This record gives sequence, structure tokens and C-alpha cells, in this order.
Amino acid sequence: MLSAHTTPSRRDAAYAALLRIPALTPDAMFRAARGRLTAALVQAGPYQEQRLHALLLGVERFRRQPAFSAIVRGALPRARRLLARVPRLGEGGVHRMLLFGGQHCVMPVDRDVARLVSRLASAGGWERLKAPRLRPIRRMIEAGLPREESAYRRAALYLRHHAVQTCADDPHCSVCPLSGRCPSRRESRS
Ligand code: SF4
Repeated sequence: MLSAHTTPSRRDAAYAALLRIPALTPDAMFRAARGRLTAALVQAGPYQEQRLHALLLGVERFRRQPAFSAIVRGALPRARRLLARVPRLGEGGVHRMLLFGGQHCVMPVDRDVARLVSRLASAGGWERLKAPRLRPIRRMIEAGLPREESAYRRAALYLRHHAVQTCADDPHCSVCPLSGRCPSRRESRS
């Protein structure tokens, strides 16, 4: 919820502000003064009301289901069903929770990662897509990874970071370390 529609640095600033309250668990967020929570979320940039609303809905969901964490770490189908009911998490968020919170080998793919991978897969792959489907892209990435949680986590962090920082909507191909093997690189733009 902190990372949606913002940059990694603003996300990190909001996280640091929550850490200072401190409000990093559902109970601590529930007890925190609303003003302090709002001030922390402001650090993440736009969509402040939606972000606060989503955070509080998530807190409520955790508090209503005391076994939430255990279920997320348990059998994948049940964990996935539970997380799918958390408001505003989206498919990428659900899979991020499954990987980092539940230790499941599932690759989180959101719009940013889908853009990067489809550009790497074929020339102009992203720009040609009318309605990107995340599942085939997730399967493509998973097929290239060993079935190890640490490999999934490293790949997820790298792909997301690269997608947001370098292979943005307007990509910075001239400084991209993958440009030598990317069929979608743009020669004349930076
Ligand atoms: S070369 Fe350009 S299009 Fe290809 S991955 Fe790098 S930034 Fe993206």
C-alpha cells in the first residue's frame, strides 16, 4: 500500500515515518493516532486518502482474523484466497505478500514488472500490448528461476527496482545495464 503509485524513495520515506511512530504491525497501526498515521502516509506522495483507507481496511482484516499470518504461511491455495479478499492489494500485492510474508515461491508481477519483462521478451513487446495479462508474464519469469525462495526474492526486488527506476514508461535505455541484450532498447532516448 505504501509502494502503489509512487517512487521507491517516497515509499521508503513513508516506511521510515511509520517506523518512527512506531506503527509496523496491525495492532500498532490500530492504536496509533490517526493524525500520525496520515502524516506518515503523506510521505508516500499522492493518493493519501486512498492509501490511509486501504491501510485501515487491511488492519481491520488482520485484526478480524487472528490466524491471518499463519494462514499466509500455510497452504498456498488458502493463503491466496485469504489475501485476495484484502482490499486494494491487487494481484501483484497478493503475490508480494505470498513471497515475502508467506515464504511461497510466487513471483509478484505488477504493471511495472510486466512492462519490463515484455520489453525484454520481444521488440516493442510492451507498447504492442493492448491489455497486459499478468499471469503469462509471471509464469514466464517463474519458468526461468530455481524453485528457491531466496532466488524468487532477489529476482522480485531486482525486477521491480529496475522497472521503476530505469525501464519506466519512458525508458532510460542509454543507462540501462540490460540494453545490450534488450530487443526493445531505444537508441536515441535517455
Ligand atoms: S534497454 Fe530500455 S527498454 Fe530495454 S530493459 Fe533497458 S530500459 Fe527497458
